[in-house]
Amino acid sequence: MTDLHRLSIRELTEGLANAKFSARELTEHYLKRIEKIDAQVNAYVTVTAEQALAQADAADALRQAGGAGVLTGVPIAHKDIFCTQGIKTTAGSKMLDNFISPYDATVVAKGKTAGLVTLGKVNMDEFAMGSTSESSYFGATKNPWALDRVPGGSSGGSAAVVAADLAPFATGTDTGGSIRQPASFCGLTGLKPTYGRVSRFGMIAYASSLDQGGPMARSAEDCAYLMNVMAGHDTKDSTSVEKDVDDYVANLNGTSLKGLRIGIPKQYFNVAGLAADVKARVEESLKKLEEMGAILVEVDLNMTEAYVPTYYLIAPAEASSNLSRYDGVRYGYRCEDPKDILDLYKRSRSEGFGAEVQRRILIGTYALSAGYYDAYYVKAQKVRRLIQQDFLKAFEQVDVIAAPSAPTTAYRIGANLSPVEMYLGDIYTIAVNLAGLPAINAPVGFDKDNLPVGLQLIGNYWSESQLLSVVHQYQQATDWHTKRAAIAEENA
Ligand code: GLN
Repeated sequence: MTDLHRLSIRELTEGLANAKFSARELTEHYLKRIEKIDAQVNAYVTVTAEQALAQADAADALRQAGGAGVLTGVPIAHKDIFCTQGIKTTAGSKMLDNFISPYDATVVAKGKTAGLVTLGKVNMDEFAMGSTSESSYFGATKNPWALDRVPGGSSGGSAAVVAADLAPFATGTDTGGSIRQPASFCGLTGLKPTYGRVSRFGMIAYASSLDQGGPMARSAEDCAYLMNVMAGHDTKDSTSVEKDVDDYVANLNGTSLKGLRIGIPKQYFNVAGLAADVKARVEESLKKLEEMGAILVEVDLNMTEAYVPTYYLIAPAEASSNLSRYDGVRYGYRCEDPKDILDLYKRSRSEGFGAEVQRRILIGTYALSAGYYDAYYVKAQKVRRLIQQDFLKAFEQVDVIAAPSAPTTAYRIGANLSPVEMYLGDIYTIAVNLAGLPAINAPVGFDKDNLPVGLQLIGNYWSESQLLSVVHQYQQATDWHTKRAAIAEENA
């Protein structure tokens, strides 16, 4: 079969179960595409062809022996922030260019247990700080819809491999939008789960109170399959919550759109910088949901103006603490011929970290320093609580809240936005992380340049099944999620 890359995850599981193709054929098919097409998008940092074929053979043998699970033999790409035993994990940084983890992240281990075949590790903004994937030490990843555009970030590689059909689905992480915004820029579905739903063990830390892993794929159905693998309590992550996991696939039709109350925060649609096409497509998608039975209700989210300043204090503060471990001593990059220990720290960190990471370490260190801690960090934590309460008040009136995922479609590569301009692009995603809520991006059409636009739906705590179900039903009635970039139509 030459079009295996066009199959949905459900179709892949059925094809494998019915022996229409083997895990080896499927894996070879994807490896061939990666070899032919990836150079155009620069999404893979590492392709693990040999291990993938060995995993595929093991998957086929397991199936022969009658021991296969649903996903046994289905390929996946992992964001290069998830530690993989024996395979390098870079977090997009020179600092970790040669880092080989001695253990697997829980998400990776769960994938192996489910029989997933790892095709490789994919590009990202350095240490997940950014919105374009341009800050990677391994060069910018390109948007499959327009190669002169960014795929978004920080999970830009994950989005690009799915949009170019170089992997059927991928893991991502979302600290302030890094699953939802690249999903939006690349026309995909991406779910940021409730904080604590997915284990952070072995996921390289950016801002620990915000970081959360989740699935990126074409459809809500595809995401549900991966959520079934990723979700769950983990004794190795003290912030992962001991709470039963839903069967996200079985629940895909579990939420009725009839009478579902969708909140429309009026402040969100008055944001300066919200592109007219984005606004129009999002409003059209809400109209469609209304036709399908949902009720649109205006809600107030009064803290909107506080989102960017609050996030850009808390995230850099936690980053400056987390990244202090890269000292040139234990692991990671070490400078040549250090004069003394101070020189070793200074040069290893100046040479090993890129500009955006250094900027955030500086901001974060400043915000945490003795004289400023109360004025900045403590105050930001208080505002964070107010932001959370704002959402909880809205959820007294509505079931989900709708917003754009990003104010614009994909930027041009090299657009050279100032840091503040770039941060303002996170306006719609970061509050969700500050509050620890789940949210999903769904593709809802294109702008005048044929670039994808995304709708974001924000849910109350633990409502992942509901979010996936709402988007699934929307996707049963529309075909935006089936649209493919020209590069995905290329055959290997
Ligand atoms: N763009 C945001 C930032 O730069 C989000 C990053 C993320 O979610 N990892 O911090």
